[in-house]
Amino acid sequence: MNPMGIHAFVWSAGSTPEDLSRALDHSSALGYSLIEFPRLDPKKFDVPAFAQSLKAVTMGIAVTMGLQPSADISSEDAAVVATGEQVLREAVSVARDLGAQKLGGILFSAHDKYMTMPTARGRQNSIDTLRKVARYGAEAGVTINLEIVNRFESNLLNTTAQGLAFIADIGEPNVYLHLDTFHMNIEEANPADAIRAAGDRLGYFHVGESNRGFLGAGTIDYAPIFDALLDNGYADTITFESFSSAVVDKDLSIITGIWRNTWDDNVALARHAKAFIQDQMDSAARRRRITRTP
Ligand code: MN
Repeated sequence: MNPMGIHAFVWSAGSTPEDLSRALDHSSALGYSLIEFPRLDPKKFDVPAFAQSLKAVTMGIAVTMGLQPSADISSEDAAVVATGEQVLREAVSVARDLGAQKLGGILFSAHDKYMTMPTARGRQNSIDTLRKVARYGAEAGVTINLEIVNRFESNLLNTTAQGLAFIADIGEPNVYLHLDTFHMNIEEANPADAIRAAGDRLGYFHVGESNRGFLGAGTIDYAPIFDALLDNGYADTITFESFSSAVVDKDLSIITGIWRNTWDDNVALARHAKAFIQDQMDSAARRRRITRTP
């Protein structure tokens, strides 16, 4: 059974000690074993104290982020690329200090709706920068997980095939794909086939519904996806990601277009998601027994 994680923005977009401890308590009480925090700013919260409270609830942590346009490592502007490299190195350091093993998200470009085509030089800048960041991550014990997102949130990597080619060009062993059902539902011809193609390069997995709300209350066909995860032997964390206008983060909610209220009751949402994902995993295992046992 895969460990299950939950995105912190189900609980709150805040980063006060009270916000963080409430998010930890809710997640732990519902049986999640990992919580994902976006863009933890070390100036806004006490990293050592937070690491200690994570230990107290034996909760794993993953850190995810998207680069700002001013820190876009796929830019052709050397100064912007250098800023991005610094931002990514700091994110690796924060992840390490919190005891996280994964840095995920849109680490290869800005998290933005581009109004320009990607360029060969920009792609190469991103590859060269991530190679350095990956080596720094290896020293820190943090893997680099590139989240393949839809066309409205990056112009560089929108499909698993593009991600695999990009990772091959980086050429570092600790760079993986971070796949997400919400994005795959938009861009992949066949999400299950894409997961199989990812093979052992799959490092982190988000389950999000087509409308970002309750799992099962959208158009995603989960059975083939969970069959593919099982076929891949993916044993790592599956994290539930959901956003509603009930919890607003100035940056993330706007760029991901969370204009509507998909839920109010986050406890009911998270409890349902845990049971839903568990059921999908159990059903995939049952299907496999039927197809593989004479
Ligand atoms: Mn995601």
